[in-house]
Amino acid sequence: MPPRTPTTLLRALSLVLTLAGPLPGVLAAQPVPQGLQVKYVRDSEEYATLTRQIYRVAAATLPAPARGGSDGAPWAVALDVDETALDNSAYELERATYGIPFNDASWTAWVGRGEAGAVPGVVEFIRSVRAAGGRVAWISNRDERTREATRANLAAHGLWAEADLLCLQRAADTAYTKARRRSEIATGSGACAWPGTRPRMVAFVGDAMGDFPAPDEPASAGTPAGEAAFGTRFFLLPNPMYGRWVTQVTRPAPR
Ligand SMILES: [Mg+2]
Repeated sequence: MPPRTPTTLLRALSLVLTLAGPLPGVLAAQPVPQGLQVKYVRDSEEYATLTRQIYRVAAATLPAPARGGSDGAPWAVALDVDETALDNSAYELERATYGIPFNDASWTAWVGRGEAGAVPGVVEFIRSVRAAGGRVAWISNRDERTREATRANLAAHGLWAEADLLCLQRAADTAYTKARRRSEIATGSGACAWPGTRPRMVAFVGDAMGDFPAPDEPASAGTPAGEAAFGTRFFLLPNPMYGRWVTQVTRPAPR
């Protein structure tokens, strides 16, 4: 077994980060990553096969390319960025190596380096979307200030096109949630929209439940209810490195 950070230290760390207030995304209040969870993402054939499998299933649901010179009704897909399109396992590996928790400064520095890889399968999926005539919206809780670095990192993997939307979190505007941004896309108005266009949203891809519209959101129109949405219109990727699950307890502790 690898050495593990003492539980009491993790609890104290989690409490301190919680009291420090919300940081962008679920990366906030995350303990120091352990080696195996990062290694699974970086080294296991299973992780890469799993993400490619999910993206292949997602690609199979896309509309057929429009024919006869007609571009048809506009449709789009929405993807999260981190651990959905961009692979930040090198950042997580650095944190694990140095034993440091997540913090804004190290995260911003990492984003600025533009060294995140591409999650296996995403390049082929985006290629399929564009070949079929679909639009792409990237919805991320990365800070608005990272816009250019994020766009450059996506472009380095051939993931970015000028017509894409990049809908980021605005600093000090916690009300500008992913749900708000999805609504803007669906209604064709706002900063996160193709103005005047209400695209049919055919697929959502993400690594956290917050990447998928709730049943009462406009973007959910036409979505099968509940679990049935996953694998048909919602496509969930694994993330063993971080997420709300880290601090969530779903079962009572044994007596
Ligand atoms: Mg993510």
